Amino acid sequence: MRHLMVTLLAQPKRIPGGLHLDANKAQSLQQPLRTASVPEQLYIPLSQHIGEAAEPLVEVGDEVLKGQLIARSSAYISAPVHASSSGKVVAIGDYPVPHPSGMQATCIVIATDGKDQAADTSLRMEAVFDADPADIRQRVRDAGIVGLGGAGFPASVKLNPGPGREVDLLVINAAECEPYISCDEALMCNRPWDIIDGVRIMRHALNARQVAIGVEDNMPGAVECLQRCLDEAGENTIRITPVPTIYPAGGEKQLIYALTGEEVPSQGLPLDLGIVCHNVGTAAAIARALLQGEPLISRVVTVTGEGVRQPANLEVRIGTPIADIIKECGGYTDEAGRLLIGGPMMGFSLSSDAVPAIKTTNCILAASYRETPQVTAASPCIRCGDCVDVCPANLLPQQLYWYARARNFDNIQDYNLFDCIECGCCAQVCPSHIPLVQYYRFAKTEIWSLDSERQFSDMARQRHEFRTERLEREKKALQERRAMARKALKPKVGDATAKQAEIAAALKRVKAKKDAQSAGPRNTNNLTEEQQAKIAEVDRRRTSTGGQP
Ligand code: SF4
Ligand code: SF4
Repeated sequence: MRHLMVTLLAQPKRIPGGLHLDANKAQSLQQPLRTASVPEQLYIPLSQHIGEAAEPLVEVGDEVLKGQLIARSSAYISAPVHASSSGKVVAIGDYPVPHPSGMQATCIVIATDGKDQAADTSLRMEAVFDADPADIRQRVRDAGIVGLGGAGFPASVKLNPGPGREVDLLVINAAECEPYISCDEALMCNRPWDIIDGVRIMRHALNARQVAIGVEDNMPGAVECLQRCLDEAGENTIRITPVPTIYPAGGEKQLIYALTGEEVPSQGLPLDLGIVCHNVGTAAAIARALLQGEPLISRVVTVTGEGVRQPANLEVRIGTPIADIIKECGGYTDEAGRLLIGGPMMGFSLSSDAVPAIKTTNCILAASYRETPQVTAASPCIRCGDCVDVCPANLLPQQLYWYARARNFDNIQDYNLFDCIECGCCAQVCPSHIPLVQYYRFAKTEIWSLDSERQFSDMARQRHEFRTERLEREKKALQERRAMARKALKPKVGDATAKQAEIAAALKRVKAKKDAQSAGPRNTNNLTEEQQAKIAEVDRRRTSTGGQP
């Protein structure tokens, strides 16, 4: 029996707050989706997901095939890594990776051989719709599939609601709301069957009663392509729902609200409402893995902005350097000013294009300075409240800012800091140009770090308590053993009486002897003459020596 029932609204709701922004998607959608060339070298990071990094399974000098497993971890929250093309492993070491901090991380470097020869991956499943959900989850995990919407959470984990938990609604997030990014729209228009097949597999794995694909209502072409597939398949239980176009309608909680009117509890999960949400690109990747046997070795990436000559959506091998991808799109224009991974609202800047595209790279934005204006110096908050009006999470951004600035990490949590999705709407409208999101990220990082310190000291305290308890236990056990040993040595009641009787008899004998000695001449009546003579001699000597024998 199902415990949670969610109703899909006939008319989707408008999310609270949000901003109407210029979409700027047409540039990259002018050209059809195409596959990028395989680069000369692939830089494949071991960590492209949330969770434990994978461990290399290959060594420098090894020959690898396309789709071959090259790194994995046994941790539950992790994802394996596969070779994106055939070639030779030429290095394993630290290289720059796409990250806001500009950090380096361990990568497996493959010099490709141009053959693109594929390995047998054993991922394909016969009769997938009759398969055990646990088998489906294992194949999804083996394929290295993570959420392609940007977060990179392992998809197999999100396909497992856990014991006793049921899924009433599967939401497919196709509401690509951030300006410039159009990779999901390109996928929906060019590979709708992959998406529909993937959605059906996920529905089976989750045993979900309802499925809704949420698409922004400015993508009629994508809706049409998906609907055509559903009609051809005679599939009438998967609903495509256009939602009002507004940024950030594609936030997980925001899309769920738009489709159902339900609010995911503060710091809770959609599963608390019986809902699971997956990205549309993740659905396509699952279909390719389980129906065609291809692990996650490529993804669609939007390459756009006034700084690139031929904006487009490309299917890119994971590990391809961004410099190669830009070259594939005609190279930089003279207007190129900033290079970002992601969109202008939630993306981050790169200082170099010598980093690879990874599983979560949805957009490379080579922006002109006109598209991304320079940062203006911040001035004090004037308490205008504009940030409150646009917050899609119903937060009080200026309060969060005050507490973050004051490093008041207790009070800031009372204002639900962790419900902030870092959409940037508040900072976008702030007349004082305060970089609000940076303050929230700083506060979150500090709290996480304090929490992990607290956890560390809690663990140390627990270890100390366990040790003290163990020592106490051992001491008590020793005392008990000693007491038992002493008890074992004590005579029993019967033994004691006999012993006491013996002692009493001995004492009595001694006393009698003393009495006899002190009573004067001995009674010698029963002795022989010789004995009596000896005794008389002894008595005589004792008398003559004053009592000494
Ligand atoms: S928008 Fe900026 S100035 Fe206005 S209240 Fe918010 S933080 Fe203060
Ligand atoms: S960044 Fe956070 S606080 Fe600001 S508008 Fe978005 S959700 Fe609200």
